[in-house]
Amino acid sequence: MDNPWKRAQQKLHSVASQINLDPLLLASLIEPERIVTVSLPIRRDDGTITTFPAYRVQHNNALGPYKGGIRYHPHVSMDEVKALAFWMTIKCAVINVPFGGGKGGITVDPKILSERELETLTRAFTQKLFPILGPTTDVPAPDVNTNAKIMGWLVDEYSKIAGKNSPAVVTGKPVDEGGSLGRNEATGRGGCYALLHTLQKLGLNPKGMTVAVQGFGNVGYHTALFLAEAGMKVVAVSDSKEGIYVEKGLSPEKTLECKKEKGMLAGCYCVGSVCDIKNGKWIQNQELLTLPVDILVPAALENVITASNAAKTSAKIILELANGPTTNEADVILKKNNVIVIPDILANAGGVCVSYFEWYQNMHNQDWTEDKVNKKLKTYMKKAVDDVFMAKSKRQVSLRDAAYIVALERIQKAWKKQQK
Ligand code: GLU
Repeated sequence: MDNPWKRAQQKLHSVASQINLDPLLLASLIEPERIVTVSLPIRRDDGTITTFPAYRVQHNNALGPYKGGIRYHPHVSMDEVKALAFWMTIKCAVINVPFGGGKGGITVDPKILSERELETLTRAFTQKLFPILGPTTDVPAPDVNTNAKIMGWLVDEYSKIAGKNSPAVVTGKPVDEGGSLGRNEATGRGGCYALLHTLQKLGLNPKGMTVAVQGFGNVGYHTALFLAEAGMKVVAVSDSKEGIYVEKGLSPEKTLECKKEKGMLAGCYCVGSVCDIKNGKWIQNQELLTLPVDILVPAALENVITASNAAKTSAKIILELANGPTTNEADVILKKNNVIVIPDILANAGGVCVSYFEWYQNMHNQDWTEDKVNKKLKTYMKKAVDDVFMAKSKRQVSLRDAAYIVALERIQKAWKKQQK
């Protein structure tokens, strides 16, 4: 099933029935609490007008303010944003931060916009969302194709309308505008902590394990970097256009440098400090998913591991750093083949975890060192992995179902206290 929202609803139903979730809570989680659709006409640099549809979904706030990123992508749709908002509700509960779930998106290819157009679009979106955002109401963050600079425009526009500086309305801001040290790398770093802790629990040595990473944006790049630093051999990476395979193990830093210089990944077969055409080969983005590696890391978009390629995956461990990369049908195949899937709602929770640290620093006027942020991130990630493993062995379910159980039980506990 390739509609992520239908898939998310199906998953919720199936886990709810395993734990006797209160039917009233199930009914309130099966649809978002609020959905907002806006239309954003902007004047382009050439004088023409283009209108972009945009969304903000507030899924659930039983645990705290709605929290979740804003995505700029040509495929953004209401159903995608609903699914992503729902996964945020679950993810915040798994990592145990006091936030609910929300998500936003603009249906736009940001690569076709100039910087001025991108800023105008972001400010227009902020103006339209102003009534529903706020540091204790709904707190956006970066997601696919958005970054600290864009969050800076958002916080600036929000603060102007509010008439006061409100850094806590957004996380993932530039560090000199109230952002947290370590936030930019947090999703990749957190994913690395989750994987290393899982390997330790399974009695496996990470040194020399081979890894393929799909996606070479902020999350994919940092994951490759930290896994290589941990002694793993990153043999393949890909972006939205193509992939590269370097059997000896590639240098993520050098590869990024080369990609920036050439404008593409092809030919960036960088081992150590040397990039040489003889070191590797060009592969299609899809091919990366079936390479003979120990660990596969989807770190791009949803629906990439499907019923048609799941059986061809030779990795024994999948670390889901994208949101929703695996369809429900593919999950069944992976389970049958004894593939361990560290699910998105656990694996990629490092981003929102450090968003919570950032928000906390803003609310309490504090500035933490990067070391403090990383140490706390490690503690949260390890605890979440432990909680999920505990639920897994108690209920004899997959890590994904166990993560859902941990989350839904926490949400139910908070929700019950709020019932009169
Ligand atoms: N966009 C990220 C995610 O999907 C981070 C969300 C946040 O920090 O609020 O988890």
